[in-house]
Amino acid sequence: MKIPFAWTVHKFGGTSVANAERYQKVVKIIENEPGVRKGIVVSAMSGVTNTLIKLVELAKSRDESYFIELELIKEKHLKTIDELILKDAESLKLSIQRDFEEIKEILRGVWLIKEYSERTVELVSGFGEVWSAQFLDALLRSQGFSSSWLDARKVLVVTPRANAVSVDWQLSKERTDRWIAVHKTDYVIITGFVASTPDGVATTLKRNGSDFSGSIFGSLLNASQITIWTDVDGVLSADPRLVPDAVVLDELSYAEATELAYFGAKVVHPDTMTPAVEKNIPIFIRNTLNPLALGTKIHAGSSKKYTIKGFSTVDQVALINIEGTGMMGVPGVANKVFGALKEVGVSVIMISQASSEHSICFAVPETEGLKAKEVLTKTFFAELYEKLIEKVEVNLGCSILAAVGDSMIEHPGIAGQLFSALGQASVNVKAIAQGSSERNISVVVSNSDCKKALRAAHTSFFISQQTISIGIIGSGLIGGELIKQIKEQKDLLKTEKNINLVIRGITNSKKMILSEQSVNLDQWKNELTNSEKELDLTSFAHHIKGEYFPYSVIIDCTSNQHVSHVF
Ligand code: ADP
Ligand code: ASP
Ligand code: MG
Repeated sequence: MKIPFAWTVHKFGGTSVANAERYQKVVKIIENEPGVRKGIVVSAMSGVTNTLIKLVELAKSRDESYFIELELIKEKHLKTIDELILKDAESLKLSIQRDFEEIKEILRGVWLIKEYSERTVELVSGFGEVWSAQFLDALLRSQGFSSSWLDARKVLVVTPRANAVSVDWQLSKERTDRWIAVHKTDYVIITGFVASTPDGVATTLKRNGSDFSGSIFGSLLNASQITIWTDVDGVLSADPRLVPDAVVLDELSYAEATELAYFGAKVVHPDTMTPAVEKNIPIFIRNTLNPLALGTKIHAGSSKKYTIKGFSTVDQVALINIEGTGMMGVPGVANKVFGALKEVGVSVIMISQASSEHSICFAVPETEGLKAKEVLTKTFFAELYEKLIEKVEVNLGCSILAAVGDSMIEHPGIAGQLFSALGQASVNVKAIAQGSSERNISVVVSNSDCKKALRAAHTSFFISQQTISIGIIGSGLIGGELIKQIKEQKDLLKTEKNINLVIRGITNSKKMILSEQSVNLDQWKNELTNSEKELDLTSFAHHIKGEYFPYSVIIDCTSNQHVSHVF
C-alpha cells in the first residue's frame, strides 16, 4: 500500500465492460493512467440494466419468458467469472447466486400481484452495477493490485425526484470518508448508478446515471480529474450514429457539455457536470478501445476553434401551442400554464420564443403530450369558453434539434446560417427557442425531418463542402454526356466552389443502378448493362433523396413525358 496522493476518478461505461476481454482492457488502462489512488466507477455490463428492467415488466404481465431471461443473465455473469480467471471465483459465484435468488423472490411477488412500484424497478435495475464492480475488483486483486470495492448503496444518499435525484452531500461525504478511512487500497472500485434513499432503500440515479456517479465520487473524493471512458473518441459534434462525419471536439465548457447532453447527446449524462463545476474538476471523455486518443476535455474554459460546438437531437417530443387574443397583455398566463403542468408532473423540455404574446408554445415529452393538453384544457376552461383562448393544440411526432456553442453570442449571423441551411434542405421549422445565455438555439421540426435537419445543419457548420445527391434518368447521348461532364468537373467544383456532386443513381429505359456513396463513374455503363435492378422510378427517387442528404436533384435526360408525370 502506498501513501494516498490526490485521487483521480475513472468511470467505465457498459460498453467498456461488455465482456471478460473488455474488463482486461480496463485493468490495463487503470494500471497505465497516472496517479496512485484511483476511484473506479463502473456501469453494469452492456445490456444488463435493460434486461433487469424488462424482467420486472415480464413478471408483471405474467409472461413466463422471464424465467428464461433471468437464467440467461445469470449464466452470462457466471460465464464471465469463469473467463476472468479469478482467485476467489467460487465465493463470488455464490454471492451472485444469492443476489439472483433475491431478484427471483421480488419477481415472484410482482408476478403474484401483477403490479410493481417504482421502488421495485429501482431495486432490481441496480444489481448489474453491483456485480460489475465485484468483477473488476476481483480481477484487479487476482492480478496482484491493491483493490477493494465500495457498494455505493452504503454511502451515497439521494432523494428521488421526478426524473432526477438530489444528493445529500453532507451525509454521503461523511459516509464515504468513513469508508475510505478503513479501506486504504490504491484502487477503490465503486458501483455506478446505485445509491440509497434517506430511509435506506436501494435506488438509482436514473437511466445512464453512472456518469453522474462518476462526478459525484469525483467530488466526494476531491479528485484532481474525472475521466469517463466510453466507446467513442470523445464528445463529437453530433451523434456519430446519425452523422458519420461528425468530428471529435477537443474542448467544451461545462455549460456547453450540459446543453449538448440535455438535448440528447447520450455520451454524457446532463447532471454529470454539476458536481465537477463546483470544485472545478476537469472531466475527460475518452475511448476505452482507443486509449491513446486524447479525448474531449470538459472544463471551465472553452475552445474557440468552432463557434458552434455541436448539435444534438431529442426525439419523441410533442409541441403544445396555446393561442388566443385574450392572452395579449394579460399577466400571469404563463404562470398558470406552467403551474398546471407542474401539478400533473409534466416536464417542459423547451419554451419557444413567440413574437407576440398571442401564443405560448412549448415542448414536452411525447408520452406526456395528451396529458398536458387535457390539464390545460381544464385549466383554461373559462377562457376557452369565452373564446379568449382559441385553442390548446398538441402536435405529436416532433423532434428538437439544438445547436450549442458558448461563443455564438459574439458571432452575429449564426442563427441566420442555421436557418438558411434548414431552409435549403426544405426542413419546416415549427418553433424556435434561444436560451437567454445565447449558448443554444433549439428548433422543433417534424420527426421525419429530424435526421435531414441535423445533417444539413452539421454540414453547414462543420463540413466545408455542400454535398448534392444526384440521380440521372436516361443514359443515352444527353445523359451520357452529362455524366462525363460531371466526372470531369467534379474535383474542380469541390476545391473551388465547395460543392460535392455525387451521382448516386443512373437509369436507362429498363434498368437502374443505385449506390449508397457514389456510382463508379468509370464503370457505370457496364454496371447498368449488367444490372439486375428493374427500373422503378419511385424507389429510384426515394434512394436519391436519401435520409441523410439535405440536397438532392433528379435530372431527366429523356424525352419521355411519362417521367415528368411521375414526379
Ligand atoms: P457508455 O456505455 O460508455 O455509458 P453510452 O452508450 O451511454 O456509453 O454513450 C456513448 C454513445 O453515445 C456513443 O457510442 C455514441 O453512439 C453516442 N453519442 C450520441 N451523441 C454523441 C456525441 N455528440 N458524441 C459522442 N457520442 C455520442
Ligand atoms: N447501467 C445503467 C443504465 O444502463 C447506468 C449507466 O450505465 O450509466 O442506465
Ligand atoms: Mg452512458
